[in-house]
Amino acid sequence: MRQIEHFIDGRSARGSGQRFGDVFNPNTGEVQARVAFGDAADLDAAVRSAAKAQEEWAAVNPQRRARVMFEFKRLVEARMNELAEMLSSEHGKVVADSRGDVQRGLEVIEFACGIPHALKGEYTEGAGPGIDVYSLRQPLGVVAGITPFNFPAMIPMWMFGVAIAVGNSFILKPSEKDPSVPVRLAELMMEAGAPAGVLNVVHGDKAVVDAILEHPLIRAVSFVGSSDIAHYVYSKGAEHGKRVQAMGGAKNHGIVLPDADLEHAVKDIMGAAYGSAGERCMALPVVVPVGAKTADAVRERVLSEIETLKVGVSTDPAAQYGPVVTAAHKKRVEDYIQLGKDEGAELVVDGRGLTLQGYDKGFFVGPTLFDHVKPQMKTYKEEIFGPVLQIVRAESLDEAVKLPSEHAYGNGVAIFTRNGRAARDFAAKVNVGMVGINVPIPVPVAYHTFGGWKRSAFGDANQHGMDGVRFFTKVKTVTARWPEGMTEDSAFVIPTMN
Ligand code: NAD
Repeated sequence: MRQIEHFIDGRSARGSGQRFGDVFNPNTGEVQARVAFGDAADLDAAVRSAAKAQEEWAAVNPQRRARVMFEFKRLVEARMNELAEMLSSEHGKVVADSRGDVQRGLEVIEFACGIPHALKGEYTEGAGPGIDVYSLRQPLGVVAGITPFNFPAMIPMWMFGVAIAVGNSFILKPSEKDPSVPVRLAELMMEAGAPAGVLNVVHGDKAVVDAILEHPLIRAVSFVGSSDIAHYVYSKGAEHGKRVQAMGGAKNHGIVLPDADLEHAVKDIMGAAYGSAGERCMALPVVVPVGAKTADAVRERVLSEIETLKVGVSTDPAAQYGPVVTAAHKKRVEDYIQLGKDEGAELVVDGRGLTLQGYDKGFFVGPTLFDHVKPQMKTYKEEIFGPVLQIVRAESLDEAVKLPSEHAYGNGVAIFTRNGRAARDFAAKVNVGMVGINVPIPVPVAYHTFGGWKRSAFGDANQHGMDGVRFFTKVKTVTARWPEGMTEDSAFVIPTMN
């Protein structure tokens, strides 16, 4: 059986861990490889290599570090198809969507190509007599990222793109469910000219995550995954004196006002609800039509779109989405479908039991639609992370806005309307971190920052953009005086501007 190894100090490493995880082909249900699970010793080997490399790397001037990013971008682009196919074969998302996963990560690399500009400090000339003050951003040292299965290319690049460009070295602990692409990216980073040790990959589960959170040389940890684990990583990392940003789960709402262009809105909602089998933190699993007439019209259109929606193997170019990631995840989604029915929501389309000819062991779940979902239902409160769309009917815009605002998660939200004033008020008032106006998946571009509110993110800094630069650097402020020959008396009181 093929074995996926760690990547430490510029090369593949078997490690000393004795445990392994299965990597499935979600189309067939077969185990296609096993991945080494690292232990504390493997992590320590990676940290030592990273610490050694970091001093040299931080001394490389920012423009040269940016050139490595340019070259990395070129190499990844040249291998786009290879990477997308590799990603699809472990994740199950269709190849075109996998290309998008790589491309969205590359957009952060493009941002990182401009790092010399982002690293420029601040300067005050003459802050006092003969005194100048300047502040500069320095890298933290060795930093780490722990990433989820659903974007195995984009999310690692969100983190290491910025972290490495500013002069840190990076330890990546990718999801154990689809670990091949992260290793390939690390190899390409070396090929692009980053010194060995600047980007390491250590695979594993809780044991290696705990080792990261406890390691004294790791200065900052960036995490993306489900909320309970995000909270755990946030608290434990802080307890060990680390800077932590931890993004969690989501339950994003799409509000449809009666004046919306329904044809476009429903097409947008379909892609956002069912694309990637709903396994996106910016998916749109809840639609809130305002008024019974809008709700009936949305329901009717969604139903007719479902009739032509094609679920297929991830390599099928005609498929709109593929299987979910594992059998365990398929069961979890199907259990939620049963729960929704038991809770009294109307199961309009049941996606359970979908099998594809020749792939009867694949982890497929058909598009599922619930109507008359109520805010007190567990299936509304919790993240399902599957191809399940829930209609929650609202009588008024105020009632509709309350739903995402009062929900425990606050990642993304969208409003569909032709009324600019209503959209503007909504964007100002809604208690959610990322807002789309007639945009169903409002994932900000790389030079803005990505981050939700409430249980969707713990910590203060968002991912990528200038928040990424702030998160992965520390500010040093220098106050400098060049006296002109005179000797002053000692000052025993604090100097002020008076
Ligand atoms: P997950 O929380 O199961 O895993 C995330 C990472 O944590 C993985 O690397 C995993 O190995 C590790 N991990 C798992 N169990 C752990 C434990 N007990 N202790 C320590 N570490 C552990 O998430 P997932 O299933 O891989 O990804 C899906 C989740 O990620 C969804 O909740 C989704 O909403 C969320 N997500 C959030 C964002 C965001 O930016 N807010 C983006 C993508 C995905």
